[in-house]
Amino acid sequence: MQKGVFLDRDGIVNVDRGYVHLKEDFVFCEGIFDLCRMLEDHGFKIFMITNQSGIARGYFTLNEFKALNDWMLGIFLEHGIHISKVYYCPHHPTEGKSEFRIDCRCRKPAPGMILQAGEEFNLNLKESILIGDGERDIEAGIRAGVGQVYWVSDNVSTGVNFSPTAIFKDLAGLMAHLRGVLT
Ligand SMILES: [Mg+2]
Ligand SMILES: [Zn+2]
Repeated sequence: MQKGVFLDRDGIVNVDRGYVHLKEDFVFCEGIFDLCRMLEDHGFKIFMITNQSGIARGYFTLNEFKALNDWMLGIFLEHGIHISKVYYCPHHPTEGKSEFRIDCRCRKPAPGMILQAGEEFNLNLKESILIGDGERDIEAGIRAGVGQVYWVSDNVSTGVNFSPTAIFKDLAGLMAHLRGVLT
């Protein structure tokens, strides 16, 4: 079995400016390429799992999302990093339009996207890592049984009833930690 790392997109891969859908607004987070390279060097396959309710809300189309996604994957490749797959949820249970208005199993905090990746790529989730900046990411990772769940945010909400493996202010802090725990 393989081990995977599940990256949230907005807030981890790119600066979260709210419903980012244009490459002009897509600013890669400081350190994301170094982090991915280190994880690849340690044998992790890299995935993204991202809620994209902007599609459901009609802020941008599925095709616009896919175009941005292809562009983003190309930039990763230019940095020598292969993203195995991007899982995205285009739904919203109440604000979604037409076919996108469903209470799905993929929208985080549901663990659906992680579990799907686990099946499709035969991943050992206990040996896997999740990195997210939002409460929903952390909950999804824990519900999926991911072994290491890291919350990277300078604005961590308190009073949540689940606990991440560790909390870091930025990717540099996470990388310093991983250097110590990855063998
Ligand atoms: Mg996020
Ligand atoms: Zn969904």
